Amino acid sequence: MKFSVLVLLFLISVFAFAEVKLPANFKLYRIEVNTFWQTNCYILTGETNKAIIIDPGDELKFIPKEDREIQDRDVYHSTGEHAARIDFIIKKYNITPQMIIYSHGHLDHLSSATMLKEKYKCETVMHKGDVRDGYPKDNRLFDLPLPKVDRTVEDGEIIKLDGMELRVIHTPGHSPGGISLFTTFNGQPYLFSGDTLLYHTTGRTNFKDGSGSDKLLFESITKRLFALPDDTIVFPGHYEYTTIGEEKVSNYVVDSYRKLFAPED
Ligand SMILES: [Zn+2]
Repeated sequence: MKFSVLVLLFLISVFAFAEVKLPANFKLYRIEVNTFWQTNCYILTGETNKAIIIDPGDELKFIPKEDREIQDRDVYHSTGEHAARIDFIIKKYNITPQMIIYSHGHLDHLSSATMLKEKYKCETVMHKGDVRDGYPKDNRLFDLPLPKVDRTVEDGEIIKLDGMELRVIHTPGHSPGGISLFTTFNGQPYLFSGDTLLYHTTGRTNFKDGSGSDKLLFESITKRLFALPDDTIVFPGHYEYTTIGEEKVSNYVVDSYRKLFAPED
């Protein structure tokens, strides 16, 4: 790697490290919201217990088209089971949810938003790459429509709420509008990586509609996420947490992508 590229990566990482933070009384709650896909929902609360909720999925029931009279396609019904668990945490800890951020528009990250929008009037936020006709892109897979997307965010944008600051990193590949969210707390960097980077693996790309891209996923991870400090704790969209340093040396999917896309490195 050229020296100038290394300097640039260092500057990006320093800049990213310094610019966003969480307040001293910040709290993080993790809830697994889909048993089949093991999807993680994160609730982040700020100075006055207002919350950003990342990826509020729900338990889903598959309804094949044969069971439906109106539509000629398979759909999913959101059971409300995990929406109720999210609501339980909200009530137990006197949290005021104000914002929903979707890391991307896949069905297992979305459907408790209906409850959150109705009960708490949360603003729904995502990257425009995963918005279709004003809705998250997998809205068409549900029997009932999701809430509309209120606001789209771009790469580099700082999302602020109640003293919390999250920097948007556009990380396409698993889906066109996939984002990761970077922040720091007491000098410790954190990343919410959606389905871009997972523990020792990555999100899948082999979707039948062609919306995934191995090359974009590889570039998102190696050029953007691996430029973050090694000690960044990564909270992914599925399974357990990891760190950037750990994934640099132990991610077999990234290693196989490297052989395909950057064999000289
Ligand atoms: Zn996904």
